[in-house]
Amino acid sequence: MNSYWLDRLKVNIFPVSFEQSDVRKALNEWVYQGNMYDVEIAEETCELCDQPHIRYQFEIFNIMTGNILQIGSECIKRFNIGVVDQKGHILSTDAARKKVNKDRNKLITDAKVKSVINSLVDLARVDNQFDIESFIKYFKENGSFTPKQLTTLIWRFETHKIEHIKPHLKMTIKKNKDKEQLLGMVEWKVQKIWDCMSTSQRDFYNKNK
Ligand SMILES: [Zn+2]
Repeated sequence: MNSYWLDRLKVNIFPVSFEQSDVRKALNEWVYQGNMYDVEIAEETCELCDQPHIRYQFEIFNIMTGNILQIGSECIKRFNIGVVDQKGHILSTDAARKKVNKDRNKLITDAKVKSVINSLVDLARVDNQFDIESFIKYFKENGSFTPKQLTTLIWRFETHKIEHIKPHLKMTIKKNKDKEQLLGMVEWKVQKIWDCMSTSQRDFYNKNK
Protein backbone atom coordinates (compact mmCIF):
# COMPACT_ATOMS: atom_id res chain seq x y z
CA MET A 1 0.00 0.00 0.00
CA ASN A 2 1.54 3.34 -0.96
CA SER A 3 1.91 6.07 1.62
CA TYR A 4 -0.63 8.35 -0.04
CA TRP A 5 -3.46 5.92 0.77
CA LEU A 6 -1.89 4.79 4.02
CA ASP A 7 -1.85 8.27 5.57
CA ARG A 8 -5.47 8.94 4.73
CA LEU A 9 -6.48 5.51 5.91
CA LYS A 10 -4.78 5.80 9.32
CA VAL A 11 -6.57 9.04 10.17
CA ASN A 12 -9.94 7.52 9.34
CA ILE A 13 -9.73 3.93 10.49
CA PHE A 14 -8.14 3.97 13.96
CA PRO A 15 -10.82 6.12 15.65
CA VAL A 16 -13.48 3.55 14.67
CA SER A 17 -11.48 0.32 15.04
CA PHE A 18 -10.32 -1.79 17.99
CA GLU A 19 -6.75 -2.12 16.73
CA GLN A 20 -4.84 1.13 17.22
CA SER A 21 -1.47 0.75 15.53
CA ASP A 22 -1.36 -1.90 12.78
CA VAL A 23 -3.38 -0.77 9.77
CA ARG A 24 -3.72 -4.25 8.27
CA LYS A 25 -5.03 -5.64 11.55
CA ALA A 26 -7.50 -2.77 11.78
CA LEU A 27 -8.66 -3.41 8.19
CA ASN A 28 -9.23 -7.07 9.02
CA GLU A 29 -11.88 -6.08 11.54
CA TRP A 30 -14.06 -4.72 8.71
CA VAL A 31 -16.45 -6.56 6.41
CA TYR A 32 -18.77 -5.66 3.57
CA GLN A 33 -22.03 -7.59 3.94
CA GLY A 34 -23.85 -6.42 0.84
CA ASN A 35 -25.43 -3.19 2.10
CA MET A 36 -25.09 -0.57 -0.61
CA TYR A 37 -26.90 2.63 -1.44
CA ASP A 38 -27.39 4.99 -4.33
CA VAL A 39 -27.51 8.51 -2.88
CA GLU A 40 -28.41 9.74 -6.41
CA ILE A 41 -26.19 12.81 -6.31
CA ALA A 42 -22.44 12.22 -6.35
CA GLU A 43 -21.53 14.37 -3.39
CA GLU A 44 -20.67 12.00 -0.59
CA THR A 45 -17.12 11.42 0.60
CA CYS A 46 -15.52 8.01 1.08
CA GLU A 47 -15.12 7.63 4.83
CA LEU A 48 -11.95 5.59 4.42
CA CYS A 49 -9.90 7.50 1.84
CA ASP A 50 -11.70 10.89 1.72
CA GLN A 51 -12.30 10.64 -2.01
CA PRO A 52 -15.11 13.07 -2.86
CA HIS A 53 -18.04 12.71 -5.30
CA ILE A 54 -19.17 9.27 -4.20
CA ARG A 55 -22.63 8.35 -5.45
CA TYR A 56 -22.72 4.63 -4.73
CA GLN A 57 -22.03 4.00 -1.06
CA PHE A 58 -20.90 0.63 0.21
CA GLU A 59 -21.38 0.03 3.91
CA ILE A 60 -18.65 -1.74 5.86
CA PHE A 61 -19.11 -3.05 9.38
CA ASN A 62 -16.53 -3.52 12.14
CA ILE A 63 -16.98 -6.88 13.84
CA MET A 64 -15.12 -5.73 16.99
CA THR A 65 -16.58 -2.27 17.59
CA GLY A 66 -19.88 -2.47 15.69
CA ASN A 67 -19.02 0.77 13.87
CA ILE A 68 -20.14 1.42 10.33
CA LEU A 69 -18.47 3.36 7.51
CA GLN A 70 -19.82 4.35 4.10
CA ILE A 71 -17.13 3.98 1.47
CA GLY A 72 -16.63 3.79 -2.28
CA SER A 73 -16.57 0.35 -3.89
CA GLU A 74 -13.01 0.96 -5.07
CA CYS A 75 -11.82 1.06 -1.47
CA ILE A 76 -13.20 -2.39 -0.71
CA LYS A 77 -10.94 -3.68 -3.47
CA ARG A 78 -8.03 -1.34 -2.81
CA PHE A 79 -7.78 -2.24 0.88
CA ASN A 80 -8.89 -5.85 0.53
CA ILE A 81 -11.83 -5.46 2.89
CA GLY A 82 -13.42 -8.82 3.68
CA VAL A 83 -16.58 -9.51 1.70
CA VAL A 84 -19.21 -11.76 3.22
CA ASP A 85 -21.84 -13.64 1.23
CA GLN A 86 -25.48 -14.10 2.27
CA LYS A 87 -24.62 -17.17 4.32
CA GLY A 88 -21.96 -15.28 6.24
CA HIS A 89 -18.94 -16.87 4.53
CA ILE A 90 -15.90 -14.74 3.74
CA LEU A 91 -15.30 -14.78 -0.01
CA SER A 92 -11.96 -15.30 -1.73
CA THR A 93 -10.31 -12.16 -3.16
CA ASP A 94 -11.50 -13.06 -6.63
CA ALA A 95 -15.08 -13.80 -5.62
CA ALA A 96 -15.08 -10.69 -3.43
CA ARG A 97 -14.13 -8.48 -6.38
CA LYS A 98 -16.79 -10.09 -8.51
CA LYS A 99 -19.47 -9.48 -5.86
CA VAL A 100 -18.46 -5.84 -5.41
CA ASN A 101 -18.52 -5.25 -9.18
CA LYS A 102 -21.86 -7.04 -9.49
CA ASP A 103 -23.39 -5.03 -6.64
CA ARG A 104 -22.14 -1.78 -8.14
CA ASN A 105 -23.58 -2.70 -11.53
CA LYS A 106 -26.90 -3.43 -9.90
CA LEU A 107 -26.97 0.05 -8.35
CA ILE A 108 -26.18 1.58 -11.74
CA THR A 109 -28.88 -0.47 -13.50
CA ASP A 110 -31.45 0.38 -10.83
CA ALA A 111 -30.55 4.06 -11.14
CA LYS A 112 -31.15 3.95 -14.90
CA VAL A 113 -34.53 2.30 -14.41
CA LYS A 114 -35.43 4.94 -11.85
CA SER A 115 -34.44 7.75 -14.21
CA VAL A 116 -36.74 6.35 -16.92
CA ILE A 117 -39.66 6.01 -14.50
CA ASN A 118 -39.06 9.55 -13.25
CA SER A 119 -39.20 10.93 -16.79
CA LEU A 120 -42.45 9.03 -17.46
CA VAL A 121 -44.02 10.33 -14.24
CA ASP A 122 -42.91 13.90 -15.03
CA LEU A 123 -44.48 13.58 -18.47
CA ALA A 124 -47.75 12.17 -17.14
CA ARG A 125 -48.05 15.21 -14.85
CA VAL A 126 -48.18 17.67 -17.74
CA ASP A 127 -49.51 15.54 -20.59
CA ASN A 128 -52.97 14.13 -19.89
CA GLN A 129 -53.08 12.39 -23.28
CA PHE A 130 -50.17 10.22 -22.24
CA ASP A 131 -51.08 6.68 -21.20
CA ILE A 132 -48.38 6.25 -18.57
CA GLU A 133 -49.77 2.95 -17.19
CA SER A 134 -49.21 1.01 -20.38
CA PHE A 135 -45.70 2.44 -20.88
CA ILE A 136 -44.65 1.67 -17.31
CA LYS A 137 -46.15 -1.82 -17.52
CA TYR A 138 -44.29 -2.55 -20.75
CA PHE A 139 -41.03 -1.10 -19.41
CA LYS A 140 -41.23 -3.09 -16.17
CA GLU A 141 -41.81 -6.30 -18.08
CA ASN A 142 -39.20 -5.72 -20.79
CA GLY A 143 -36.73 -3.15 -19.46
CA SER A 144 -37.00 -1.48 -22.85
CA PHE A 145 -39.45 -0.01 -25.36
CA THR A 146 -40.48 -0.84 -28.92
CA PRO A 147 -39.26 1.53 -31.66
CA LYS A 148 -42.76 2.99 -31.99
CA GLN A 149 -43.12 3.54 -28.24
CA LEU A 150 -39.76 5.29 -28.22
CA THR A 151 -40.59 7.73 -31.00
CA THR A 152 -43.83 8.57 -29.18
CA LEU A 153 -41.97 9.03 -25.92
CA ILE A 154 -39.16 11.17 -27.31
CA TRP A 155 -41.64 13.35 -29.18
CA ARG A 156 -43.70 13.87 -26.03
CA PHE A 157 -40.64 14.48 -23.86
CA GLU A 158 -39.38 17.11 -26.29
CA THR A 159 -42.77 18.77 -26.70
CA HIS A 160 -43.21 19.10 -22.95
CA LYS A 161 -39.51 19.77 -22.24
CA ILE A 162 -39.20 16.79 -19.91
CA GLU A 163 -35.72 15.80 -18.83
CA HIS A 164 -34.80 12.36 -20.19
CA ILE A 165 -31.65 10.39 -20.89
CA LYS A 166 -31.82 8.66 -24.25
CA PRO A 167 -29.26 5.90 -23.56
CA HIS A 168 -31.37 4.89 -20.53
CA LEU A 169 -34.43 4.56 -22.74
CA LYS A 170 -33.45 1.25 -24.25
CA MET A 171 -35.01 -0.20 -27.37
CA THR A 172 -36.05 -3.78 -28.04
CA ILE A 173 -36.25 -5.35 -31.50
CA LYS A 174 -36.26 -8.98 -30.39
CA LYS A 175 -39.61 -9.67 -32.03
CA ASN A 176 -39.92 -9.64 -35.80
CA LYS A 177 -42.71 -7.11 -35.65
CA ASP A 178 -40.40 -4.74 -33.75
CA LYS A 179 -37.68 -5.19 -36.37
CA GLU A 180 -40.18 -4.46 -39.15
CA GLN A 181 -41.41 -1.45 -37.21
CA LEU A 182 -37.89 -0.02 -37.05
CA LEU A 183 -37.06 -0.72 -40.70
CA GLY A 184 -40.38 0.76 -41.82
CA MET A 185 -39.82 4.02 -40.01
CA VAL A 186 -39.06 7.28 -41.75
CA GLU A 187 -35.44 8.33 -41.45
CA TRP A 188 -35.93 11.36 -39.18
CA LYS A 189 -37.83 9.27 -36.66
CA VAL A 190 -35.01 6.76 -36.56
CA GLN A 191 -32.58 9.64 -35.98
CA LYS A 192 -34.65 10.73 -32.98
CA ILE A 193 -34.23 7.33 -31.32
CA TRP A 194 -30.67 6.66 -32.53
CA ASP A 195 -29.17 7.36 -29.09
CA CYS A 196 -31.55 4.79 -27.56
CA MET A 197 -30.16 2.06 -29.80
CA SER A 198 -27.34 -0.34 -28.99
CA THR A 199 -24.39 -0.78 -31.34
CA SER A 200 -25.76 -4.06 -32.65
CA GLN A 201 -29.18 -2.52 -33.22
CA ARG A 202 -27.56 0.29 -35.23
CA ASP A 203 -25.60 -2.27 -37.25
CA PHE A 204 -28.80 -4.21 -37.87
CA TYR A 205 -30.53 -1.05 -39.06
CA ASN A 206 -27.67 0.02 -41.34
CA LYS A 207 -27.40 -3.44 -42.91
CA ASN A 208 -31.09 -3.97 -43.50
CA LYS A 209 -32.30 -0.51 -44.33
ZN1 LIG B 1 -12.27 5.39 -0.63
